[in-house]
Amino acid sequence: MSYRRHSDDPAFSDASVMVVEKAESVAARPRVLLVEDEADIRELIRYSLVQGGFEVEEASDGAEALEKLREFAPDLIVLDLMLPGMLGLELCQRLRARTDTVHLPILVVSARTNASDKALGLAMGADDYVTKPFSPRDLLLRAIALVPQR
Ligand code: CA
Repeated sequence: MSYRRHSDDPAFSDASVMVVEKAESVAARPRVLLVEDEADIRELIRYSLVQGGFEVEEASDGAEALEKLREFAPDLIVLDLMLPGMLGLELCQRLRARTDTVHLPILVVSARTNASDKALGLAMGADDYVTKPFSPRDLLLRAIALVPQR
């Protein structure tokens, strides 16, 4: 299975508009699994994603995320790196090792700001990266950009 880069896709410039238009039809809403242990930040991200037309399922740690994946097939994972128990990076690695989630887009959110942590996140299989404190709009636009076009 080949993965086409966004930059090679002539339709990509209109991707955000297309996702929002699709969002008006409930059946076509893109699904996101949001993994964040801090309830207030999770709510902030959830609100932003719902406003952007996503259907959102929440998990507060890595184990719950893996559990939710059994019944909720997301188009995207928004993943905080700092989680209790299994760390976000480990979850990233696990998702990349599974055949059913190897191509699932992952948007990492973290308070970590140094370049080596960012590089590590991307090396572990994350597709994009948002550093706290983040703008909810920036996070939403990055999320939309990662959703595969259907
Ligand atoms: Ca956290």
